[in-house]
Amino acid sequence: MQPTQQPFSPETVIKRDEIDRYLGSDGRDFIHDSELRAELAANSKPDAARVRDILAKSLAIQTLSGAEVAALLAVDDPDLLAEMAQTAWDVKHKVYDNRIVTFAPMYISSYCVNRCRYCGFSLDNHREKRRCLTMDEIKREAEAMIRLGHKRVMAVYGEHPMTGARFIADSLAAIYSAKVPGRAAGSANNVRRINVNAAPLSIDDLKIVREAGIGTFQVFQETYDHEVYAAMHPANTVKGDFGWRVTCFHRAFDAGIDDVGLGVLFGLQPDWKYEVAAMCAHARELERFVGIGPHTFSVPRMHAASGSDVANAANPFSDDDFFKAVMVLRLAVPYTGLIVTARETKELRDRCLKIGITQMDAGTRIDIGGYSAGNVGQKIDEQQFMLGDNRSLERMIVDLAKQGVITSFCTAGYRCGRTGGCIMDALKTGREGTFCKINAVLTFREWLDDFASPESVEACKPLLEKELAAIAEQYPVFFPQIKARYDRICAGERDLYF
Ligand code: SAM
Ligand code: SF4
Repeated sequence: MQPTQQPFSPETVIKRDEIDRYLGSDGRDFIHDSELRAELAANSKPDAARVRDILAKSLAIQTLSGAEVAALLAVDDPDLLAEMAQTAWDVKHKVYDNRIVTFAPMYISSYCVNRCRYCGFSLDNHREKRRCLTMDEIKREAEAMIRLGHKRVMAVYGEHPMTGARFIADSLAAIYSAKVPGRAAGSANNVRRINVNAAPLSIDDLKIVREAGIGTFQVFQETYDHEVYAAMHPANTVKGDFGWRVTCFHRAFDAGIDDVGLGVLFGLQPDWKYEVAAMCAHARELERFVGIGPHTFSVPRMHAASGSDVANAANPFSDDDFFKAVMVLRLAVPYTGLIVTARETKELRDRCLKIGITQMDAGTRIDIGGYSAGNVGQKIDEQQFMLGDNRSLERMIVDLAKQGVITSFCTAGYRCGRTGGCIMDALKTGREGTFCKINAVLTFREWLDDFASPESVEACKPLLEKELAAIAEQYPVFFPQIKARYDRICAGERDLYF
């Protein structure tokens, strides 16, 4: 039976002492709006020599300071912008090689106790047709996603008492339990990694989710501007508490989750440079706190949503702003992955490929149960917001291959314990790029054998052969071992990685 939407008291969720312990001695959180704005103003006219020094630091895979991020955000000279774009691309190659990791979201519940003014799931939106999947339905949804070729899932939930930590943990188990026979005799496909996008949780609840096998814990701050935050999230809601949200990754680290994803919902306010600067400040705060920065930055931009005046108004954050924000983020925290979702059009995502994004979703459905129902098209009152890129996974893989970009389904880092501080070091020194390249080729080959049409195989083969040849040249000593695993995959074995 589906529950009714009911008002909810923030006090039942928020543990005040699990905010206070992460505040400064002055009782403030670590996002200091006026200092960040002063830093942006003080660095608004950087000369070319300074910008080039900053780019050299990015290329050495070092996190930029607040002043350096502000300087890059101020660049508007076309030649310098071109140099920034080239460096962003070089940084991406150095750290992650030329691959895009792909995933797809699974929306599990649209029930929510919050009243975010930009979201179709808001408690105030009575037009939304709400649904929460049962464990059987979640498993069926996972099977449908596996049949499309997905191996990485982003599980997404509204905030509601019935979808708390235990429910999230059970839903991860349901997804991991799904298995679908592969094309090779005796083989089976499954989901190998689940990331979670959910509301902030307490430390005890985060431990429950960690034990269920979470990959990345993703929570978007939406806006780092305290005033705009208050205007978008009514004070008598859980999400209305800025401090509970902005300290959620501190709690995650204390609960043993060392893989976290930050994000801003661009367009909630016109000053996007402030949001980029503040998200980078958040990343530096995590480095200070535990020595581990974010695994990913997301750059969701607000899109039309059921019942929302805010989301349905013109977005002040243009495509050109979007491009520049992505470029500066790539340079500012060079080891952090960058996700551009199917909210955006194919054209804009293709543009961003050239400045170093690392993850894209594909074949995306954000209606609850949409994969197993085989739904096509979008219905505004049955999803959180509207999407801009409706390509199938297969279409996107072929499009990327034609641009020389290999799609990776690699989940090895997480399963080999290369997370947190360990992965940070591997990324900074370029070691992870080696694994990325090899595992991209192995998982790409798997996908072609298990899911691609003969035409797609033909279209992707030249890239696969080029990548294999590049690995042979780059790692001559190691290559026989790599080739042996590759050949085993060609013969029907699955899930082999380095
Ligand atoms: N309910 C949880 C929360 O808010 O933290 C989980 C995430 S919510 C289902 C996923 C994300 O969607 C939000 O964090 C927000 O950034 C984004 N979102 C909400 N409304 C949106 C809109 N109109 N357009 C694009 N993204 C939106
Ligand atoms: Fe609920 Fe999240 Fe939507 Fe806010 S953004 S209304 S918390 S689902």
